[in-house]
Formats: sequence, C-alpha cells, structure tokens
Amino acid sequence: MKEALFWKKSSANRVSCQLCPHNCVISEGEHGACGVRKNIDGTLYALTYAKVIATAVDPIEKKPLYHFYPGSSAFSLGSLGCNLRCKHCQNWQLSTGVATEKDHRLQDLSPEQAVTSARKHHCQIMAYTYNEPSIWPEYILDTAKLARQQGLFNVLVTSGMINPEALKILLQTTDAYCLDIKGFSEELYRKLTGSAVLGQILDNAKMALNSGSHIEIITNLIPGWNDSFTQLDGLSHWIVNNLGPDIPWHVTRYHPGHQLHEPATPVETLNRAREIGLKNGLQHVYVGNVPGHPGQNTLCPGCGKTLIDRTGFSLGTNHIQAGLCRYCDHKIGHYRAFDIN
Ligand SMILES: [Zn+2]
Repeated sequence: MKEALFWKKSSANRVSCQLCPHNCVISEGEHGACGVRKNIDGTLYALTYAKVIATAVDPIEKKPLYHFYPGSSAFSLGSLGCNLRCKHCQNWQLSTGVATEKDHRLQDLSPEQAVTSARKHHCQIMAYTYNEPSIWPEYILDTAKLARQQGLFNVLVTSGMINPEALKILLQTTDAYCLDIKGFSEELYRKLTGSAVLGQILDNAKMALNSGSHIEIITNLIPGWNDSFTQLDGLSHWIVNNLGPDIPWHVTRYHPGHQLHEPATPVETLNRAREIGLKNGLQHVYVGNVPGHPGQNTLCPGCGKTLIDRTGFSLGTNHIQAGLCRYCDHKIGHYRAFDIN
C-alpha cells in the first residue's frame, strides 16, 4: 500500500490530512471525507494509488477542452471518491464510494502500465478525470512524470478542491487544467456541493494559469441554482478580470440525476449565459451538451468567421494557422495546437 503525501501525525494516533480544504483529522481506522485516504495504525495511506475504476480513449473535446490540441486523443483514467458532495453529480456511484484495502471494484494499473496503454492507443494526452483527481495526487504525480518523459501531456479535469501547497506540486507536471466552477457565491457552493470553497477554487484557477498551464472553465447550468444574471454576470466578469478575455468558458446543459430533479437546462438559458459572457468581454463562450448547437464552434474574435466547426466531438477544417485566424490574421489567444506545417 502507498503511504499518502500531504499529511502529518496528530494526537492519539490520529492523522491530519492537508491535501484539501477539508483538512480532515482522521482517527485510526477511519477515512477522510474523500473516502480514499485512510488512517491505518497512525499512518495515512492512499488506498486508490495505481487503482483505476475506468479507462477510455476520448477526444480531448469531450473533457471539454476546445483550445488545447484540438482533435487529439486523451487516455482518460479515473478512480473512486470525491471531496465534494454535489447534489447533481452524474457519477455519484463512483464519487460517493469509500475505498477498501482490497476493493474488487478497482483494477490495478501502475503508472508505467497507464503510460504504455496511452501510447499503445496513440494518445497524445493523459487525462485524469471521471472522479476528482485532486484526491489522487500520489498516482498522478508518478504517472504524469513518466508521461512527460515520453512526450505526452497531462490534463486534470477537476473541481479545483485542493490546498494550494498540494496544487503547486501537481501543477509542475500539469499541461492543462479543465476547471469546473459551479457558480459564483459561497452560499451556492455550500448548498450545491456541501462546501463553501469558492474563494479557494478561484485562487487555484489563478495559480494554475500563472504556472503556465492551459486552462478552460466549465459551468454546468442548473435551473434555479446557478443560472441567475447575478451568478453568470459575476463569474464571467471574474474570468475576464482575473484570468483573461481569451480563456474559454463552457456553459453546459445539466440533466437531472442523483439528488436534483429540476428539468434539463433550457437552451434559452444557455444562450443567455453565452450572451452575458460575450458581452462582459469573453472571446470564447461555448455551449455544451446540446448536439448541433452552433455555440460549439470556435469563431474568430476579429472577423467573426468560423475557425473550427464542431459536430459532436468531431472537427471540420481548422482555420487557425500558427495561432492566427487564416482570414484576418487575428491572434487566437490561449490556444495550443500541433503545428500542421
Ligand atoms: Zn479572423
């Protein structure tokens, strides 16, 4: 079993986990709030190290990342547990799970095997996704280091629920940070996720960008929860002013599940959110989870022409060349791609 990082001994054989804002103090034999870090005889262990619940080869657009090597393939892997308790979680059977020492739901996959599988499937990217990668740092660090050595990029698909000291280390091998910001008030976070941690998540977004990582923001719009003008106006302004106008913002359609029964997000709500974001200065606001919606396409902020046409997860011709619009030479900021020529 793998000893965890980011913890110290506390009194009476308890341990103090310092990985995420919960800062759990864990008694002997107990798990942290994430369900995957356990105090065994006064030592904290990472029970899901090198243990995965699912792997798949996905287009990078599915994460979703639209400005990070468009058209490339990501080897996606995830495990058990989460440190938030979102009422609308689409993966709650995995995220609310508690890992055991010999967990039959988990399959062994060493860092070496993960990278070998990614290469075998011709992936350019490793994506740590499905459950919350912030609670899996020991495995991600080992895997991401190996992946980098073999020329692969590393992507975290995350809620950003992690302490800055741990994030700083994870970012050393992170190439893209796909961040789910669920709304724009601590009250919303408390009600929807169980934790009022928006401030830390916003700070983490800035840290990720400043580390040199690519970043895109995702907000799943839930009717009556986070779709008010105040929420959308506040969040889009914050992205423009703190990360930059060229950071992509994905507003995605919610579908009922787990503990929420509100109907799926109306397309008008998504269109309105997109308009608010664009009006506040964001250059790229994408509409997600609505097949065929024109808001999936990348438009040039200079001339307005379509630069990348998306149908589902497949791409039409890419009209961005060497980072410039091929029609008007406008520079597309915060965009990375393999050079075709
Ligand atoms: Zn243009």
